[in-house]
Amino acid sequence: MSTTSAPSWLRPRPPITSGAEYIESLRGRGLKVHLMGQRIAEPVDHPMIRPSINAVARTYDLANEDPALATAVVGATGERVNRFLHVTESVADVVAQNKMQRRLGQQTGTCFQRCVGMDAINSLFPVTWSIDQATGSGYHARLRAFVAAMQAQNLVIGGAMTDPKGDRSKGPSEQDDPDMFVRVVERRPGGVVIRGAKAHQTGCINSHWIVVMPTMRLTPADRDYAIVCAVPVDHPGLRFVVGRQSCDTRALEGGSIDQGNARFSGQEALILIDDVFVPDELVFMDGETAHAAELVERFTAFHRRSYVCKTGVGDVLIGAAALIADYNGVAGVSHVRDKLVEMTHLNETIYGAGIASSHESRPTPAGNYQNDELLANVCKHNVTRFPYELARLAQDLAGGLVATLPSEQDFADEEVGPLLHRLLRGRAGASASDRARVLRLIENMTLGRNAVGYLTESMHGAGSPQAQRIQIARQMQIEDKKRLARALAGIVDPSDRS
Ligand SMILES: Cc1cc2nc3c(=O)[nH]c(=O)nc-3n(C[C@H](O)[C@H](O)[C@H](O)COP(=O)(O)OP(=O)(O)OC[C@H]3O[C@@H](n4cnc5c(N)ncnc54)[C@H](O)[C@@H]3O)c2cc1C
Ligand code: SF4
Repeated sequence: MSTTSAPSWLRPRPPITSGAEYIESLRGRGLKVHLMGQRIAEPVDHPMIRPSINAVARTYDLANEDPALATAVVGATGERVNRFLHVTESVADVVAQNKMQRRLGQQTGTCFQRCVGMDAINSLFPVTWSIDQATGSGYHARLRAFVAAMQAQNLVIGGAMTDPKGDRSKGPSEQDDPDMFVRVVERRPGGVVIRGAKAHQTGCINSHWIVVMPTMRLTPADRDYAIVCAVPVDHPGLRFVVGRQSCDTRALEGGSIDQGNARFSGQEALILIDDVFVPDELVFMDGETAHAAELVERFTAFHRRSYVCKTGVGDVLIGAAALIADYNGVAGVSHVRDKLVEMTHLNETIYGAGIASSHESRPTPAGNYQNDELLANVCKHNVTRFPYELARLAQDLAGGLVATLPSEQDFADEEVGPLLHRLLRGRAGASASDRARVLRLIENMTLGRNAVGYLTESMHGAGSPQAQRIQIARQMQIEDKKRLARALAGIVDPSDRS
């Protein structure tokens, strides 16, 4: 790890080297976390929050189990760092991000949360470089110092882009309430003060730092909204209101079956930002409205192909669908096999576009590698649809019991339990308990708390479907395609001669 002395804004501590150490690093931070009308004293020990922490912890353990997949070596220093904190230096680095994401999706069956920060630092790397070229700002060196500090301690960065947005037909400076988008409310010597909120923030309570970014292209009137900066999650000016997930209170019931996936979940919260002072060293854009669009486009290009994470989750769902068909005694039936083929086809179609986007990466002017934007948008657009069809097919194969299964307490009940175990068995050798477990897993992923990650996050995370269609329309090069058609059809057009 880096031997350079830590910057003053970073609390000195040794690097985190395992999932267990990561979990300990989250303790005792005094975060202001609100959940179901209560302040949570220690999120690490809260049964509804802990599964989401376990999912991030996997990113640390995978780095130890498979360093070639989940770590990378920084060329300039020779230091090995967690891949989620690595600024890409080759096409292979971008491709490896996707392979790591698929593996983690397979291992957790949910959103493991750490990619937003990875995509934020990789998109800010060229954007801060561009601003420096245009204005001599010095943001790029600040960003590099921030990333090096995060790498040295192996911390988790959350990416805070989405604002509450109020009236969607209006830009930030046109809103009735100026706090609908995060903005600078004061510029002081040595830093800025920011105010507002960030919505749907993946893994923010499980992060050590958040990077605040604007969510859309901005006009010169939006100068105060063109703010990019890093804030420690334990800053006293931040409050976190945890989002509800379907069936989340099952985690309070005890037991290990009815949660479906008792170990892992995703996490989203609303972050309320109440006049937070950010020192200059942690400000990476302030007022450069012309560069907001480049940031949003680079970030969404990275993040939309990061959604190959869902193919790892899809692998779990396909496995669960195959298992329940097997337990039901219909594994060899032709329509069942065909449905599993269809699920696999859809899942690999998502992966194909995402991994192709990464393979088509090009160097940015700043020197890191950026994936292909058109293919990234195609990948994410597929993600807004195909997991819903995979979920439908899994529920088809599961049968109605996926939604009518008695509780695990009733399976344990003296009076009705033995009957449930006898009558809810499947084929010979398929116990009612195993059927219940796999049905609860399918329920968890298609109706329960991990449907947030598998379905709704697939729809809206990294931008709702129309956002991808706009980018696809911008890049589909329709005039070039018309020219190709005219050439083969023998149509003479004056514009083709130029
Ligand atoms: C599970 C989950 C995790 C997420 N994680 C993160 C995260 O970690 N960090 C982060 O920054 N963000 C995160 N997001 C936010 C995500 O990027 C947004 O949900 C997405 O950009 C859509 O914004 P919205 O939810 O405000 O929906 P809206 O903007 O309200 O969109 C709803 C509908 O209105 C349409 N619409 C909106 N505005 C317009 C307009 N001007 N003109 C025409 N149609 C319009 C949209 O196309 C869509 O159909 C997450 C979201 C989810 C659901
Ligand atoms: S939705 Fe996927 S890409 Fe985004 S943070 Fe979660 S696991 Fe990573």
